[in-house]
Amino acid sequence: MKLLEGKRAAIFGVANERSIAWAISEAFHAEGAELAFTFAGEVLEKRVRPLAEGIGSILPCDVTKDEEVEKVFATLKQEWGGIEILIHAIAFANKEDLSNPYVQTSRAGFHLAMDVSAYSLVALARHAAPLMEGRKGSILTLTYMGAEKVIPNYNVMGVAKAALEASVRYLAHDLGPKGIRVNAISAGPLRTLAAAGISDFKTMLHHVAERAPLKRNIDAAEVGKTALYLCSDWGSAVTGEVLHVDAGYNIMGM
Ligand code: NAP
Repeated sequence: MKLLEGKRAAIFGVANERSIAWAISEAFHAEGAELAFTFAGEVLEKRVRPLAEGIGSILPCDVTKDEEVEKVFATLKQEWGGIEILIHAIAFANKEDLSNPYVQTSRAGFHLAMDVSAYSLVALARHAAPLMEGRKGSILTLTYMGAEKVIPNYNVMGVAKAALEASVRYLAHDLGPKGIRVNAISAGPLRTLAAAGISDFKTMLHHVAERAPLKRNIDAAEVGKTALYLCSDWGSAVTGEVLHVDAGYNIMGM
C-alpha cells in the first residue's frame, strides 16, 4: 500500500513546475494521494491547469480574500467530504521591500507581507480543521531561515516568516486535541518565481553551497520527500515542529 493511499490533500501555492508546492504534489501523487490545487488569478490558472490536469482538480483562491477562502473549503467539503492534508506554500512581499533597507518598510508593505505570508496560514487552518476532524489531519507550511537570523534583503519576509513559525506552534496547540498536526519545513534557497523577487538571490545560493555541511544546495524533490514524512503516518507524533531541509546550513556559526 502506498504511503498516502486514501488521503486527500489541498495544495495552496503551485505557480509553475519550479514551485516547491509542485515538488510536494509530485511526491504525494506518487504515493497515492488525491490532490486539489488552488490558483490566485487568471495568469496562474493558465500555468497551473496544464500541470494539474490528470492529477487533481483546481480551484480559485486569493488568500487575502475571506470569501474565496470560504468558497474553496466549501467546495472541498462538497466534493470530498473532508481532507487529510493541507499544504500552505504561499508568500508575498513588495519587491522594493526585498531590496531596500528593512528600516524603510512601509506600513502597507508590512501589512501585505504579513497578511499573505503569515495570516493566511491561520485562515486556511481555521477552515481546514472542521474538514480534518477524526481524520488525523496534517497541515504543513514553508518557511525560511530568514525568520531566525538576518539574511540581507529578506527583510520584511523574515519578520513574516517569524510570525508564521510562531503560528505553527500556536496552531499545533489549538488543533492537537483534534488530532491535527501542524508543522513547517524551513527550506534552503531554491530558484523559484518567489525567489526571483529577492535581491541578490544568487549570492545566497553560492553562500550555502560553500558553507553548508553538505557543501551543496538542496533540490525541491528533497523538500517533497520531507513533506511526505511529515504529512504521512511516518510523522504521526511530530507537531509544532520547524524542520530544516537546508543541507545543514542553519547549524553553522562560523
Ligand atoms: P512560488 O513558486 O512563486 O510559489 C509562491 C506561491 O505563493 C505562488 O503560487 C503564488 O501565487 C502564491 N501567492 C502569492 N500571493 C498569493 C495570494 N494572495 N493568494 C494565493 N496565493 C498567493 O515560490 P516558492 O519558492 O515555491 O514558494 C513557496 C513557499 O516556499 C513560500 O512560502 C516561500 O516563502 C517558501 N520558501 C521558498 C524558498 C526558496 O528559496 N524558493 C525557501 C524557503 C521557503 P502568485 O504567483 O499568483 O503570486
